[in-house]
Amino acid sequence: MREGANMSEPAKTKKGLIVSPIENGTVIDHLPPGKAIKIAEILSLLQPGSVVIMGQNLKSTKYGKKDLIKVEDRYLTGEEYNKIALVAPNATVNIIRNFEIQEKRKVSVPDVLEDVALCANANCISNKERIPSRLYTVSRDPLVMVCHYCNFEFKGEELRLKG
Ligand SMILES: [Zn+2]
Repeated sequence: MREGANMSEPAKTKKGLIVSPIENGTVIDHLPPGKAIKIAEILSLLQPGSVVIMGQNLKSTKYGKKDLIKVEDRYLTGEEYNKIALVAPNATVNIIRNFEIQEKRKVSVPDVLEDVALCANANCISNKERIPSRLYTVSRDPLVMVCHYCNFEFKGEELRLKG
């Protein structure tokens, strides 16, 4: 460990150590309370041998309470950023290299969701046939999507992610 690397100091509070730092990997921060497990599932982070630190209901200066995930030696794909945005629109993703934040990114729902989520219309051809779903974002706040195939319009609460 090199000198003066303050980032490598564990996060401490009066009660002691809460979340230890990672050397290389990804920190997914500012998740709504209770959503860390959901995000970990969606991104398939809980693999045998993988190092994952999850915090639930942590104090957040911005939002009161938040969840947080740290995963070692794992970086996200563009599609994974989209998936996070659908569940946690205010999430921030920090890319960590050598204990330091190399890059900080906000997630955002893209204009087009290619095969990421299911059309909410059960009778839609994209649910019946083996074809990739295609949804367009009509509104981000509140989240509203419309299907390319059947034109069915639905809200974010009805959105189910694929896989
Ligand atoms: Zn549809």
